[in-house]
Amino acid sequence: MRDTARCIPFDVAPLLVPWAAVWQRPGLEERLHISFSTRMTRSLGRCHPERRTIRLASWLREAPVALFAEVLCHEAAHVAAFELHGRSCRPHGAEWKALMRAAGFEPRVRVPAELLPESVRIRTPARSRRSTGLARVLTGMERLGSSVRWMRRRSDPERK
Ligand SMILES: [Zn+2]
Repeated sequence: MRDTARCIPFDVAPLLVPWAAVWQRPGLEERLHISFSTRMTRSLGRCHPERRTIRLASWLREAPVALFAEVLCHEAAHVAAFELHGRSCRPHGAEWKALMRAAGFEPRVRVPAELLPESVRIRTPARSRRSTGLARVLTGMERLGSSVRWMRRRSDPERK
């Protein structure tokens, strides 16, 4: 894919290893296929848990490490939740939230707009800025994969 950098410009394994440890998913960092896309403007990351693929917005490579880590953890937790629970768990359900908390993150699906660079904020649709003041939805299985769309019809992953 032309717009997707296959090589990661820095090693993300040091971020993933401690999360994989607390999730009891040793070697998770080696099972993930992580790529970056310049075309992602509506979400910061996406994930296909069954394929263990994670795609991140390319600008995140220059983002503050805390934001990069949260997005990466958000996506990696989807894969870990799938490995632990299979298709039975909801995308942002209790299992996923527990994994995020165990890794030290608030299990949120959106990030505050002020955390994003101005150039990215501009692309955020006015509708979401006005209604919630939050940035676009952080990733999600809900955006990829037929099995996940199948799940969404039965349960709204955004519902708390
Ligand atoms: Zn998600």
